[in-house]
Amino acid sequence: MKECVFCEIIAGKMPADFVYEDDEIVAFRDINPQAPVHILVVPRKHYSTLLDLKSEDTELAGKMILVANEVAKKFNIHNRGYRLVFNCNREAGQSIYHLHLHLLGGRIMMWPPG
Ligand code: AMP
Ligand code: ZN
Repeated sequence: MKECVFCEIIAGKMPADFVYEDDEIVAFRDINPQAPVHILVVPRKHYSTLLDLKSEDTELAGKMILVANEVAKKFNIHNRGYRLVFNCNREAGQSIYHLHLHLLGGRIMMWPPG
């Protein structure tokens, strides 16, 4: 497999500002935040895109959402509101090909997104 930045972070070979960790999922601050709270929720297992998820990954995918909810509560943005985003492939703007869920909050969000 080609070098993967998020696999490196998960392996402790690259620094990140972790806000959550368990045996399956980690969450850390985005290096280029697009909102006052911008956290990436990332499975330890490498999946390149959403399209790599199989039926046996349903529980993991659901758990990513629950972790994002917990992190939103931790940053006290849960009542104001927050946005969860998966970018899948080029036209969605995916730049890191290791599955991740963006948690964005702390400001008013626009719709439609850019
Ligand atoms: P996406 O465009 O959906 O693939 O999102 C990738 C995100 O990863 C972007 O928001 C980047 O700012 C973020 N990112 C890239 N490298 C790092 C890193 N080393 N640590 C934390 N976040 C990163
Ligand atoms: Zn990876």
